[in-house]
Order: sequence, then structure tokens, then C-alpha cells
Amino acid sequence: MHKASKEMKKILPQVDLIIEVLDARIPFSSQNPMLAELRGDKPCIKVLNKIDLADPELTALWQSHLEQDINVKTLTMNARHNDRIADLIALALSMVPGKVQGVKNVQTMIMGIPNVGKSTLINSLAGRQIAKTGNEPAITKMQQRIKLDKGIVLHDTPGVLWPNLENPHSGYRLAITGAIKETAIDNDDIALYAVEYLLDAYPDLLKQRFGLSEIPESGMDALEVIGTKRGCLRSGGRVDLERVAKIILTEIRAGTLGLISWEKPDIIEREWAEVLVV
Ligand code: GDP
Repeated sequence: MHKASKEMKKILPQVDLIIEVLDARIPFSSQNPMLAELRGDKPCIKVLNKIDLADPELTALWQSHLEQDINVKTLTMNARHNDRIADLIALALSMVPGKVQGVKNVQTMIMGIPNVGKSTLINSLAGRQIAKTGNEPAITKMQQRIKLDKGIVLHDTPGVLWPNLENPHSGYRLAITGAIKETAIDNDDIALYAVEYLLDAYPDLLKQRFGLSEIPESGMDALEVIGTKRGCLRSGGRVDLERVAKIILTEIRAGTLGLISWEKPDIIEREWAEVLVV
């Protein structure tokens, strides 16, 4: 973290534009808090990636929320596809006026916490396999500088950038979406958090996916019913919470429940108010 911040401070003065990759399902929790501090008023494109898994209505809300900052533009993306790469390049060029194309290069820096899809996007931008990708967070990568079309130079951020865990809800959301694999929170606790949120925000998706005859009254009820349905039983007939939790989390991460986002701008504001009071 310290090394990454030092390197970033060194590169930033030469950078015209920042491309921050976020997970569209958790645009707040997948931010790196250092960026807001170091960025100043440098133009920034916030790429809301994994759009194929996120709730389109909430994504639109997040886009207008993030674009309240006049130096920020957003772009939605599925980095596994190349269909928005030309839009990203065009947006980047439009945000750096004064750099005449072909006369001077546009220096951009791409950054993102582990597992948001930064390497996948770098590979799509470069049109070839440059960065290592994988579902394991925090794969170490070398700092690199890549020349793209139209005089754009892309600097990859060195080191690993961590998300902000000051808001305790962010830890749960990062764990639910799979950004953080090793956490101090137990799987059954994460699954209970997820199911309680789903009961509140997307009860029908939960009901449909697990074939429930009615919407459970509480998160604990939901774990019990789903556990029974999926045969996660201990001897004596009690539900094995750890097993059902793993099933639920695997399904959520694979996107099989449907398009789900795990936070809204107004929820974040409320949560921050609570964090500040405590
Ligand atoms: P990085 O740690 O930010 O560099 O993340 P990676 O590029 O290694 O991606 C992490 C995982 O997310 C990989 O399994 C990718 O295939 C997957 N991934 C990347 N972009 C998308 C996307 O837009 N949609 C979906 N569903 N998965 C993606």
C-alpha cells in the first residue's frame, strides 16, 4: 500500500487522465480511497465494469451521482468484450483538450483494486494478452507502460491498491462479490448479510433462483429453507450453515440470481453518517 502510494505520487504529475476501474455492482466499495486524495482535479474516467452482473437501474443512478464531479465521466463496460473500447478511447481524448492528436501523447493511468477487471480491460485495450488475469485477487503485476492507438499511453498502477474498509458494510459487499477472498468474516456471516439484503432489495430473484414457495421472513429463515432444499443437512437434520453459505455465495458471484447491485448512493450517505457518529 505504502509503496503503491509512493509510486502513484511519482507518476501522477505526468498523467493527463486517470482511468479508474470499479465494480459496477459496488461502485463505492470498490474505490481506492487514496485516489480521491491524490487525484486533485485531474480528469478521471470511472469505468463501471462487470456491467453484465449489475442492476442497470442502480448503475444509471451511480453514473449521475459520480458525474456530479465535473472532472469525472463514467463508462459502463464488460471488459471481457471489446465493444466499448473505441468509446473509452474517444472519451479519453475528449477529456484532455489541448493535446493535439498525433502531436503529443496523452498520458493515462489505469487503476483499480484487485479483481475489478483491470487486467482484463488492459488486455482488451491493448488488443493482446499483456496483463495477467485471474479470479484470484492481488495477483502481483509489474508496472507497465503500454502504447495504444491515437497517441494514448497507458500506465498501469504499480502494486496493489486496497479498497476502503472504514465503512463496515464495504467489507461485506467486497466479500459477497468476490473481490476479497480472505476475510476475517465467516462465510455464513457473509451469506446471511447477502440474503438479508436480497430479501430487502431483490426478494423475487432469491425466491425464483432457489425455488422458494414464499419469501422467507428473515435472513436466517432463508438460509434454513435454502439449505434444506439443497440438501445441506447435518446428521440429525439440522442445516449445515457453512455449506449453504458457500452455495449461495458461489451462485451470487457467478451471477445466476440475476442482475444485482449491492449499494446505492443514498445508502452510502446514510452509512457514512453512522460511521462518523460512532
Ligand atoms: P484485476 O485483478 O482487476 O486485474 O482483475 P482481472 O482482470 O484479473 O479480472 C478478475 C476476474 O473478473 C476474472 O475472472 C475476469 O475474467 C473477470 N472479469 C473481468 N471483467 C469482467 C466483466 O466485465 N464481467 C464479468 N462477468 N467478469 C469480468
